[in-house]
Amino acid sequence: MSIYTGSCLCGSVTYEAKGEPRWVFECYCNWCQKSTGGAARAFAVFDMGKVNYSDSAVSEFVDKNTEHGFKMVNRFCSNCGSPVEMLVERVPDGQFVPLGTIDQRYAINLNEGRWGELALPHVAFKDGRKVRKQGGSSELI
Ligand SMILES: [Zn+2]
Ligand SMILES: [Zn+2]
Repeated sequence: MSIYTGSCLCGSVTYEAKGEPRWVFECYCNWCQKSTGGAARAFAVFDMGKVNYSDSAVSEFVDKNTEHGFKMVNRFCSNCGSPVEMLVERVPDGQFVPLGTIDQRYAINLNEGRWGELALPHVAFKDGRKVRKQGGSSELI
């Protein structure tokens, strides 16, 4: 079984994920822009219970009023602020791990985009990437 490891910027939060991510995607929505400060937020989604965190330094912001219409939780390091996990009410069986925090990130293939219609003008979609206009199983761009 694969084991993935990762940490926040300062190293206060570490985690271990067992098994393969079932879904790896990048999201261009405003929630992801705001919560990272960047143009996108990339995730590897593992089955609930497969990712174990060293919880001591993890804080969370529970956003009950997202633009998507369902609750989302941004979990982050209380020392350095790096996002370390997202939980989504609509996907209760998944743990969304920020791809950039995973030690083995270069070996993980990302091939899907979400909320492409909200992408900033400089974002170029790689050839072959499946990019949806919105979330869920919305139409492809
Ligand atoms: Zn940290
Ligand atoms: Zn998003």
